[in-house]
Amino acid sequence: MTSTQSTRSDLLQALRDAVQAGFPAAVADLSRLVRIPSVSWDAFDPRHVAESADAVAGLVRELGVFEEVAVSRAAIRDSDQLGQPAVLATRRARGGKPTILLYAHHDVQPPGADEDWDSLPFEPTARGDRLYGRGAADDKAGVVAHIAAIRAFIETVGEDFELGLALFIEGEEEFGSNSFTNFLSEHREQLAADVIVVADSDNWDTETPALTVGLRGNVTFKLTVRTLAHASHSGMFGGAVPDAMLATVRLLATLHAEDGSVAVAGLTSAEVETPDYDESRLREEAALVDGVTSIGSGSILGRIWSKPAITVTGIDAPSVANASNTLIPAVSVRISARIAPGQDADEAFVAIERHLRAHAPFGAQVEISDVNQGNGFSVDTSGWAVAEVETAMADAWGVAPVEMGIGGSIPFIADLVQLFPEAQILVTGVEDPDSRAHSPNESLHLGVFHRAILTEAVLLARLTERA
Ligand SMILES: [Zn+2]
Repeated sequence: MTSTQSTRSDLLQALRDAVQAGFPAAVADLSRLVRIPSVSWDAFDPRHVAESADAVAGLVRELGVFEEVAVSRAAIRDSDQLGQPAVLATRRARGGKPTILLYAHHDVQPPGADEDWDSLPFEPTARGDRLYGRGAADDKAGVVAHIAAIRAFIETVGEDFELGLALFIEGEEEFGSNSFTNFLSEHREQLAADVIVVADSDNWDTETPALTVGLRGNVTFKLTVRTLAHASHSGMFGGAVPDAMLATVRLLATLHAEDGSVAVAGLTSAEVETPDYDESRLREEAALVDGVTSIGSGSILGRIWSKPAITVTGIDAPSVANASNTLIPAVSVRISARIAPGQDADEAFVAIERHLRAHAPFGAQVEISDVNQGNGFSVDTSGWAVAEVETAMADAWGVAPVEMGIGGSIPFIADLVQLFPEAQILVTGVEDPDSRAHSPNESLHLGVFHRAILTEAVLLARLTERA
């Protein structure tokens, strides 16, 4: 062993010990944050989000290494209303060292009904090797992973390090990041960094780390199909005029080919290599019921990571209980589309809109409103920061990481790339395939949490050594 190798393994052991010693405190901090029901949606009390921002700021101040720690808000785009509070902490780089910005979000999704949970959503509960609770994984574990990693890092290298360090803990990621771009431009200088770590994604499994290198974009909107000015008796005109349900069902059916793949001209696919993942794993993880086949073509992960998907996620029509023998005049549906990384969400929306208008059956009137969209993202994996974080993952987990895509979207990443084109963006995470983010019984795997903290502590130490 050369002497640099032995220094490196000494450093790794010291970080390992520090993360181990600090782990109970990390779990306690996380539990405290989970008890604050910081749902950022409009219909929920914003005081909880404010309380959660203050609690995070408190933990960050206690670290004692930031020059500035502030809780602040920016205006929502196209509005003078303020968004939810974010925590921003900064410490300038010295001696020509790089700056790293650590991102996570402290707001959470609504919990849904308590009965759907095995333990209460805002009562953090350990069962087996998992901690259950809304936000226990997404993304309060990301927040605390940053804090615990910085603690272990300081413990190991001391407070006098030269690495530039910034923390940005957002308060409205789950509600569309509506003040994000304004926040970025108002705090541009404080946020500028060579490397940005976004700890809000997944791992391959509980034993294998992953770096997320591709994310799909998304487009959602409300589609209303109208065929009649008012309802009428189905016995009177049925068979001679189309009801809106007939037109809607036929129109929606044109969105997919026979094999279930998307059939909208102008939507593109990306070319990616995917790890092995077989049909039986898909069946189990997605809970396909007996006899139902998968849809689409090509490798299974390729379908999820790099091809478009279109889903109807809601419908406004008379309920079955209220169904009378009536021709329905208009039907509204919510359409949620996932866009392949590399395609602009705007361009994708235009393609879908063009398709719907061109395929409206019987000349039905098509109205599209309430459009929301976010761009996808693909990482240039040739940057030095990718190599650094992959080494840190391998050191911390004892297993080489998988470079993976994600079928979901984190639209603000595209905003980050636009404002900070020079920064290298590393999308990491504390989740695993069983975390059930956004769903009842969301949970964090404590072993994954431990290894995610160690990964980040190792990454900080490695970046400190960079000239
Ligand atoms: Zn999240």
